Amino acid sequence: MESLLEVAVGALISKDNPENNSISEKSICEAVPGEWRLLQPVWDLRIGYEEYVSSPLFPIVVSVSFYFACILPWMVFDLYGRHWNWIQRYKIQPKHPVTWEQVSRAMVLTFWNHILYILPVSIAQWVWTPSEVLPVLAPFLWDFCWHQFAALIVFDFEYFAWHAIHHRVRWLYRNVHALHHEYHSPSSWVTQYLHPWELISVGVFTTTSPWIFSAHFLTQISFMLLGILVSVEAHIGYDLPLMPHHWAPFWGGGIKHDMHHQRPRTNFEPFFNWWDRLLGTECPGQLAGGRRPKILEDYDARKKEEVRRRRAGKKIN
Ligand SMILES: [Zn+2]
Ligand SMILES: [Zn+2]
Repeated sequence: MESLLEVAVGALISKDNPENNSISEKSICEAVPGEWRLLQPVWDLRIGYEEYVSSPLFPIVVSVSFYFACILPWMVFDLYGRHWNWIQRYKIQPKHPVTWEQVSRAMVLTFWNHILYILPVSIAQWVWTPSEVLPVLAPFLWDFCWHQFAALIVFDFEYFAWHAIHHRVRWLYRNVHALHHEYHSPSSWVTQYLHPWELISVGVFTTTSPWIFSAHFLTQISFMLLGILVSVEAHIGYDLPLMPHHWAPFWGGGIKHDMHHQRPRTNFEPFFNWWDRLLGTECPGQLAGGRRPKILEDYDARKKEEVRRRRAGKKIN
């Protein structure tokens, strides 16, 4: 279904010939006359590069480059900007500055993960997977947006279930997920400080979630980048004023995941917060400058009281 907005914009920028009422020339939003897509100019950027864009290597090269582009500024803030108050006042755990030793350890594992796992998977994909058949038309803007949001909900649930299981089953925690928890105060490089099994699981969830909605290729690539962006946001260790948890009540994001690294039995959900809320594993986050909001103070008081009652109960028994 063509959205109303697209029809309206299409009509405005149309170059229809009023003389004979036929389309003499296409607008930039039409790859096929009469098929309006606001995203057509973006999708048309592929023209001339189809050979590369359709290659099975394209999503991997784009996502790896985008990942490093996302984490590098935070690495600079952490290591070289310790006295830059304009950014450091937003640090969630200011008492735990990021050290070069922590960053280099994460870099080494990320490097080996890329060499030993991502590179062979890329080569296998390149050799065995056929090139993508690229459609001529861009996706509708509405489909582009809702497919990504829906895929994020699916990914969020898949990782929530994976994550909770890998905390509850001792063997899985010790042998797989504990590696990621070597960092109690996360920083951008910790995003992919992962056991290979976790890295592969996350890769599979990210790739397959938009398939459920038969998302357009452009939507799939955009979703992959969105997934990286929100995963990095969860690990940067800063609580910035415009981050989604300030304006979206259903978003857990950075402050909740930072708390998960401090208290690993809480906040299993990576992005949203409804599953944690429903299953009673949500813990409020610490805010910029290490500030503890009242909701966190109340949570701690409640937990302390629960422990006191349990101990008292045991004594009586
Ligand atoms: Zn984490
Ligand atoms: Zn965890």
